[in-house]
Amino acid sequence: MPATDAVVVGSGPNGLTAAITLAQAGLAVELFEASEGIGGGARTDELTLPGFAHDPCSAVHPLGIGSPAFRALPLAEHGLRWLQPDLALAHPVPGRPAVVLDRGFQATVASLGRDGHRYRRLLQPFADRWDALAAAFLRAPLDGFPPHPALLAAFGVPGGLPISALAAFFKESGTRAMLSGLAAHVIAPLSTPATGGVAMVFAAAAHANGWPVPAGGSQSITDALAGYFRLLGGKIHTGTLVRSIDELPPARAYVLDVSPRDLVTIGGHRLGRKYAARLGRYSYGPAAFKIDYALSEPVPWLDPDCRRAGTVHIGPSVPEIGNALKAVQHGRPPNPPFLITSQPTVVDPSRAPEGKSVFWAYGHVPAGWPGDLTTLMEKQIERFAPGFRDLVLARSVRGPAALEAANRNYLGGDIACGAFRGTQLLFRPIPVPVPYATPDPRIFLCSAATPPGPGVHGMCGWHAARTALRRVFGVSGAGMTRARMTEAIGG
Ligand SMILES: Cc1cc2nc3c(=O)[nH]c(=O)nc-3n(C[C@H](O)[C@H](O)[C@H](O)COP(=O)(O)OP(=O)(O)OC[C@H]3O[C@@H](n4cnc5c(N)ncnc54)[C@H](O)[C@@H]3O)c2cc1C
Repeated sequence: MPATDAVVVGSGPNGLTAAITLAQAGLAVELFEASEGIGGGARTDELTLPGFAHDPCSAVHPLGIGSPAFRALPLAEHGLRWLQPDLALAHPVPGRPAVVLDRGFQATVASLGRDGHRYRRLLQPFADRWDALAAAFLRAPLDGFPPHPALLAAFGVPGGLPISALAAFFKESGTRAMLSGLAAHVIAPLSTPATGGVAMVFAAAAHANGWPVPAGGSQSITDALAGYFRLLGGKIHTGTLVRSIDELPPARAYVLDVSPRDLVTIGGHRLGRKYAARLGRYSYGPAAFKIDYALSEPVPWLDPDCRRAGTVHIGPSVPEIGNALKAVQHGRPPNPPFLITSQPTVVDPSRAPEGKSVFWAYGHVPAGWPGDLTTLMEKQIERFAPGFRDLVLARSVRGPAALEAANRNYLGGDIACGAFRGTQLLFRPIPVPVPYATPDPRIFLCSAATPPGPGVHGMCGWHAARTALRRVFGVSGAGMTRARMTEAIGG
């Protein structure tokens, strides 16, 4: 018998959650990571100047705090502490106060003017039942009868709409811009089906649990997961790029937090030609262009609510956001770009030397785009925060190539590890009931290229590990992990 029961490749939130789930079942688990540091898209580094703790990738965690997988783990005991900014999101719009998202609904409804009550009627039923909604969503679509079918059906009617159609139910241009900005996270045209559902999930998450940042940065999530994994006896090896199963220790199961491209390479002939060809047709989406800033002061937003929000979206109108997304789909850089920005220092001053700030912003660009979006991004920030450029002490700029060089899962700079289009709107990487399994009964995929897709929530890892436990190790119902999950999500 091999000394190692299961091997996990990749230490992103999904790889670590998979490793923990396997180790909780009493298995001997080893994890291999290509980078020198662990965490994939959940890391914190001094990218610019000493004392400035930047998140190179994820910073804000509406899906993390609401994740059934994370809530079933003792992450607080391993140092994870969520910090809630006053406001989850502010979306500045010209000529009037910013539209905001808060926990609860009061500030949001007040900021939406004539749309406040209609918005609340749409979102409150889902915010109130966030745990049930998360349990229904954060799973594979074809994996048996869904839990909470009535809730899911009620969500599906507005949620299945393109955001362009859902936003049209509202009168105020600010409401429409805010909802379009939420949907733009998936970098798809506003006419894409189900982008209404994307906006509704982000909004409901804000009202239910907030959009928190982890104290100290996203690395704290990784360190808590890794700390618990090690406590369970797990071993982590860094600086090891895996190119083939043959390079790994003999084991009964291999669970891979990698892109479909790397799955084909690593699995090789074991996966069979047909499956490899289907993965070869998996489509990757547009890219991000990301800048991390060290600032001498907080961002000088004109709108006071923007100074209290953890996240600020910059896209003053639906046409402007729509044009930015359309340009990217047609292979052109956006002008002006739609920006997602994050300012964790508003709630965590420990992230920068006294009085100073860390701030990140990213825009969307075509996959593999070699240009520099810095000037256009900063022009856009200056529209809503004049004087911003004067506060920049240092910046770390990463376009698509640099993002991919730092993490192989971001092919061409696609931070979602797969496009939000066609069958991939629902099914990743291919439409099968158990997308975590492959034709080789020992090999499983657990990255964001599987349901429920991108974000720091660990659910892809949890599902993949459960599949491996059931199929390879005969642990029915994934043993105690299922019991813990049930306890965490309340039935
Ligand atoms: C700029 C940016 C901003 C983001 N903002 C947010 C946010 O605010 N909130 C949020 O929830 N999400 C955000 N995301 C998305 C989020 O980071 C990802 O969806 C999430 O990290 C995916 O987790 P994962 O475990 O599937 O993969 P990853 O986190 O990408 O980890 C994969 C790991 O596997 C390793 N690996 C891959 N192939 C191999 C191999 N062959 N051998 C060895 N190791 C390998 C990689 O090095 C990497 O460490 C952001 C991403 C980016 C890039």
